[in-house]
Amino acid sequence: MARKYLIETFGCQMNVHDSERMAGLLEQAGFEATDTAADADVVVINTCSVREHAEDKLYTRLGELRVMAAEQGRDPIVAVAGCVAQQEGQTIFKRSPGVADIVIGTQAIRRLPLLVERAVATGAVGIIDLDPHDPHDDVTFPLGVTRRGDPVKAYVTIIEGCNEFCSFCVVPYTRGHERMRPKADILAEVRDSASQGRREVQLLGQIVNHYSAPDDPSCDFTGLLEEIHAIAGIERIRFASPHPRHFSPRFLEAMGRLPKICRHLHLPVQSGSTRVLQAMRRRYSRESYLDLVARIKGSLPDVALSTDMIVGFPGETDADFEDTLSLASVVRYHSMFSFKYSPRPNTLADERMTDDVSDAQKTRRIVALQALQRDIQTGLNEALVGREVDVLVDAASRRRDTELSGRTSQNVVVNLPGPAGWIGRTVPVRIERAGPHSVWGTVREARERVQTGA
Ligand code: SF4
Repeated sequence: MARKYLIETFGCQMNVHDSERMAGLLEQAGFEATDTAADADVVVINTCSVREHAEDKLYTRLGELRVMAAEQGRDPIVAVAGCVAQQEGQTIFKRSPGVADIVIGTQAIRRLPLLVERAVATGAVGIIDLDPHDPHDDVTFPLGVTRRGDPVKAYVTIIEGCNEFCSFCVVPYTRGHERMRPKADILAEVRDSASQGRREVQLLGQIVNHYSAPDDPSCDFTGLLEEIHAIAGIERIRFASPHPRHFSPRFLEAMGRLPKICRHLHLPVQSGSTRVLQAMRRRYSRESYLDLVARIKGSLPDVALSTDMIVGFPGETDADFEDTLSLASVVRYHSMFSFKYSPRPNTLADERMTDDVSDAQKTRRIVALQALQRDIQTGLNEALVGREVDVLVDAASRRRDTELSGRTSQNVVVNLPGPAGWIGRTVPVRIERAGPHSVWGTVREARERVQTGA
């Protein structure tokens, strides 16, 4: 009987995709997926350290696995992967003795099956592989190994790591220096995904618009988009995230010219105050960001913007926060990920700044920001009512069994009644209702079927 694995994933799309890669590696080594830890021979916890209490979440989960082992006599090999693994290292073994067997760094996941076999063979606890990040690391990944969880969309990494060192961010320490993936490797993966029926590709990197192909000096991010655009079978191209500092007129021109590129830009701003942006080491000002937004909206009038925002950064005053509110009102983002600041280990903000905004103040600010954002989103979604939009159906709806769910080019979530056979198809949907997080509509075909009783 095949041995079984379970991967539990926290965090961003990058982590989701790393889990897809680890799943493929384990399946290549003969393991089968399961969805319960009690049934698994190997449990991988793929951690994320961007959000608050990330470490606590890991240790809580390890505690639950310890209880499971004691109560059910089931003691799988437990591997901790992802940013918290990279950051905590040996501490994981010290704080959770006898539970975690393997700690595996963000760049060592290709060795996961090897480490699992070593743990099985030796019964060893405390196997650690935190490959030091080398700026010349090979970031290729073998074609055909990734076990993709989504039948419609394919995540494809184009850049690993980041060189920006924003003062609040742990990524340069946990994922290392920026390394570009060869263009040939990326295009092969996109072609392979298209040949397996995937209609959308989502390019991943900390700063995607900084891409420069190591195997083709003339190819920048725009050049890469042009080549992916030419691949038959791919209908939509998304990417996350571009950095406001790296926008070129050439890139904006290409977005307007290439219809497969979705009309959605995730444009992290983090704060509306130039003073706070400087302390965050973002290297742009409120004014230059707003100027960029105006240029984007000028050349792509149908584009939807989303962002990341942090409230309560060290030294943030009420006036700074008012700047954040006013910037959000001016830009009118279609969606926003907002966080209360919490110090992340090793970062400049943690080492050199005082976390001096009280938690009560942070809470008041995030509540105000989220209320404003909710109103803006509701207004933007309501403006869609009565319009027909193209929706790439990507899943059964999470809310109702009889409904499907998909996204517009602008990344608006649309729920609609329809048969499961529509998953993977782009359908024209007339929007009939709107809420802050999604809209609801119908396809003419389905409306006619109801009207005629067919
Ligand atoms: S650009 Fe800044 S926030 Fe984004 S990953 Fe790099 S260091 Fe972190």
